[in-house]
Amino acid sequence: MKTSTIIESLHVVQKAILDNESEIEKLDRAIGDGDHFINVSRGCEVIAALAPGMHNDTPAQVFQKIGMKLLSTIGGASGPLISSFFLSMGKSLEGIAEPDRVQFTAAFMAGVEAIKSRGKADVGDKTMLDVLIPTARLLQALTSEEASLLHICKSLKDDASTNMEATKNMIATKGRAHFLGERALGHVDPGSKTCQVAISAVCDYLSASVKGA
Ligand code: ADP
Ligand code: MG
Repeated sequence: MKTSTIIESLHVVQKAILDNESEIEKLDRAIGDGDHFINVSRGCEVIAALAPGMHNDTPAQVFQKIGMKLLSTIGGASGPLISSFFLSMGKSLEGIAEPDRVQFTAAFMAGVEAIKSRGKADVGDKTMLDVLIPTARLLQALTSEEASLLHICKSLKDDASTNMEATKNMIATKGRAHFLGERALGHVDPGSKTCQVAISAVCDYLSASVKGA
């Protein structure tokens, strides 16, 4: 994956997050403290501001710069978690000028692992990891069977949507929502929604570029 593709993917993620503002905002108001959209959209602005200066960077440098900057600029539980995702992606891609699909998949896996260990959470805790961990596993499976990019994108998009919806029926054991106990039932986890929106946007963008749309 080229630096330009990564920068453009991050741009489409920002647009998708903004398009979903009311829903993301509503979810964190229901089972959190209402700041998740603000945290994530601030993160997107920070990335957009870095973008013009990153076109000549390697993918590793892009992810590292983003991770460092997010660490010092976004608050909430999600700030350090998302920063650790980018920093670990960057570390995994060090020395690789243009990562292939296997290398990119390994980096994504490393990013998700970093969130897992920093957040001390796993599948079933009603957090962003309920979308990210299955995404990483599915991406790894599809990459190892050499599935087409279109098939990977469609599968990841459908899976993320199902897993995001499934957080509705979970009781949170991490993050602010865990204070609510059973009252969090019936509400999607805001971090899961954000991740699903981001994954869906990147999948649409990559599919369209394959089709030449
Ligand atoms: P805060 O909870 O501090 O207000 P945000 O509202 O920005 O931070 O982010 C909340 C989201 O962060 C949750 O919806 C959940 O997906 C995610 N989250 C919270 N705690 C954890 C954790 N320990 N591990 C992984 N994700 C978490
Ligand atoms: Mg919050």
